[in-house]
Amino acid sequence: MIQFYSTLSGKKEQLKPLKAQNISLYVCGITPYDNAHIGHGRVFVTFDLLYRLLTFIGYHVNYCRNVTDIDDKLLTKAQKEFGDPLRYHEVAQRYTASFNRDMKALNCATPTHEPLVTQNMPEIITFIQELIAKNKAYKVNGDVYYRIAQFPAYGKLSKQKLDELRAGARVQINEEKEDPLDFALWKSEKENTFWHSPWGWGRPGWHIECSALAKKYLAEQIDMHGGGADLTFPHHENEIAQTEGLTEKRFAQLWLHCAFVNVNKEKMSKSLGNFFTLNDTFGEFDPMTIRYYYLTHYYRTPLDFSFDDIKSAQKAYQKICHYFSDVAPQQFDLASLKKIDAIVRMLSFLEDDLNSPGMFGVLFTFMQEKHDAQTKAAMKYFIREVLGLTLEPLPEKLVTITPEIQQLLDEREQARKAKDFKRADDIREQLRIMGVDLHDKKM
Ligand SMILES: [Zn+2]
Repeated sequence: MIQFYSTLSGKKEQLKPLKAQNISLYVCGITPYDNAHIGHGRVFVTFDLLYRLLTFIGYHVNYCRNVTDIDDKLLTKAQKEFGDPLRYHEVAQRYTASFNRDMKALNCATPTHEPLVTQNMPEIITFIQELIAKNKAYKVNGDVYYRIAQFPAYGKLSKQKLDELRAGARVQINEEKEDPLDFALWKSEKENTFWHSPWGWGRPGWHIECSALAKKYLAEQIDMHGGGADLTFPHHENEIAQTEGLTEKRFAQLWLHCAFVNVNKEKMSKSLGNFFTLNDTFGEFDPMTIRYYYLTHYYRTPLDFSFDDIKSAQKAYQKICHYFSDVAPQQFDLASLKKIDAIVRMLSFLEDDLNSPGMFGVLFTFMQEKHDAQTKAAMKYFIREVLGLTLEPLPEKLVTITPEIQQLLDEREQARKAKDFKRADDIREQLRIMGVDLHDKKM
């Protein structure tokens, strides 16, 4: 049985695809106004694992991850950098490119669709028009708001009551909303800027894009919706209100949320200024070490980020790479992999809400046992395909070859030629103590 914890029901639920052997998966992407941080990395590696797993066990996965390439944050950055908010697309292009480099380094597979908000404006405008026609949204002076009073289920995902939410809502003085919880679908802007709509010039609010893009690229009803835990409220709550308000059908069957990355027990975020970009960590560690580090933690538990832990993760990952380094890559089909007990057990951990830490337990036990070359090759294939770990040996740290080291290297070479392996091993040990790790090519 394949099951995942869904935030909506608050429990693990069996995966029951709406269309046999097909899975539609929507994951909220980035707002490209800065470099992606390690919290982003965790979210997208988690959903990459999900995508790889479902594909591996035979589903056809339609995976959509949007790019919010128009947003207040982009306008602010463009104003700061160029003195012109309308140059926001230059900001978006730069950070989308940087994000794509990070994803490639982390070996995250490319989603089926990566739509940009700015390239899907007709669908967004139509979606809003349909909500207005159904009385679920209303216009005020060129802005359009969602009418929460028309969606009594609001709060069901984040388990909050409407009146409590109302009490906590803040209304800005220039807003003319019917209800403090109503949120913007369209924001009016000066003439001849951004996009033209039936309500005049303007640009979309943040939430509407995901409803419109999921409908366009996937379906009105989808199997799985994912994102970072910080998106549960209000973003995902608003997505539900928009889509279910329009279709009057359940939007996503399962809602998956990846927990925060904390630094010194505080939630890491750009707004708190306590964050590391992925690129910062790639300067110190191989991206595969970072991917491995994420995967050794259960995605629903907050991760306390620490460089010491990454160092230990690096050692463990290196061990795995070394273990498989003498195995040539080969292709296997699912049926033959399922004959290997350890792989079956690893799969069942992953199929139980992506329990990757439990799965690594099985792998380390496997590595302590004796296996034939074919079994090792099968395991290597499984790790590369499903976990997305390339198992390429990590580059060894460079050592300055001092005359003393060189002398030992020469001596050892002679011992090897003379087949005095005892002496060669002794010298290797001497070098190891001096911080020089030797890896011999086969003679
Ligand atoms: Zn979204």
